[in-house]
Amino acid sequence: MKTFKYNTGSGTSEISIGKKIRIPKLPASGGIYVFDTNMEKYLSDINRENSVILPSGEEFKNLESITRILDKAQELNLGRDSLFVGIGGGVITDMTAFAASIYMRGAKLCLLPTSLLAMVDAAVGGKTGIDYGGYKNSAGTFYPADQVLICTDFLKTLPAKEFYCGLGEVLKTAMLYDKKLLSLMEDKADIIKGFCERTGTTPETSCPEEENEILLFLVSHCVMAKCNIVEKDLKESGLRMELNLGHTFAHALESFAGLGELSHGEAVAWGLGRALELGVNLGITDKNYRNKIFSILKIYNWTESPMHPAAKKSGETVGISDADIPEKLLEAMYHDKKKRKGEIRFVLQKKACSTVIRKVEDREVLKVLSDQKN
Ligand code: NAD
Repeated sequence: MKTFKYNTGSGTSEISIGKKIRIPKLPASGGIYVFDTNMEKYLSDINRENSVILPSGEEFKNLESITRILDKAQELNLGRDSLFVGIGGGVITDMTAFAASIYMRGAKLCLLPTSLLAMVDAAVGGKTGIDYGGYKNSAGTFYPADQVLICTDFLKTLPAKEFYCGLGEVLKTAMLYDKKLLSLMEDKADIIKGFCERTGTTPETSCPEEENEILLFLVSHCVMAKCNIVEKDLKESGLRMELNLGHTFAHALESFAGLGELSHGEAVAWGLGRALELGVNLGITDKNYRNKIFSILKIYNWTESPMHPAAKKSGETVGISDADIPEKLLEAMYHDKKKRKGEIRFVLQKKACSTVIRKVEDREVLKVLSDQKN
């Protein structure tokens, strides 16, 4: 197991990354495990008396689930020195961390992310939260875990759709910070795709050593990149904005297409392509770099076309013509929380690992959402 620490501003967070699953024992001061109904069958060794088992999915990322965790903590007479252990995807890690942050004004926290997205993103960096009043992550705190234990064997049971969801964020991280990771995604695509499309395995199923190595490389490089940027911008006031590469497009698509119509990672992958196209049109992005990323998008069956099939489908359902969809997406961008004083700022790239943030005129945005070729 590889272990390192990053500075959280108020202390340090320890991150361990390895293959084998290690469930931490609860301390003498007591604690609670939180996981969902999908993970239940893989966690049979955990004492149910100390557990809260929540229904799975984003629709349960709400106050009611937090109440269930807090109620259980009180029932067990837990104190501030007790340990909250969240084992699951980003929904569970965000909620366990939120509950720990408010219980007795802050209990001890350990996170075991089990989805690729939670490993490379959600469990690292200290953002916690729930969806509230119809808005995603609109209530939450900054509360980095004391410990994050990443065990890549959990990925063996992750459905392919969820693996691809995390992979979109991995590609974003590679483009922003890590040329080696970018090459790996290109050169080892067969192995990566082979791994995520295999189904019916258990955490104990053995897989070829090269696959394990690739997964560990992929996860640890993303985690190190995220820790590095989070350390420099703990409260997301500036630098961390780079992490939104592709996300202005992605959020607009997700809100237009409707939640659940496509995975977040798929929307991010499309958004990465649109951000590059925008950069090329503005004379910022190198065309060869755009072409290279477009070919990676194709390898993973992500679209690089201006009109995402999910947007087209949604337009057909509600009677909006293809020609009007770009305008609708732009409207959605203006509603996105990242807008500042009526301006939309975009994260753009010159080339790999060279990023700029620019305000962009609406007509340029509309151009990359329409079928106009360069
Ligand atoms: P998720 O937590 O809903 O998990 C996806 C699905 O996979 C769920 O059904 C879950 O039960 C299942 N699952 C997870 N691990 C599994 C495994 N090993 N085997 C079988 N099934 C498994 O979704 P997610 O994509 O992991 O996370 C999305 C959430 O993360 C969103 O709510 C998002 O807001 C949040 N997020 C937070 C941050 C942050 O910085 N805090 C960053 C990115 C995303």
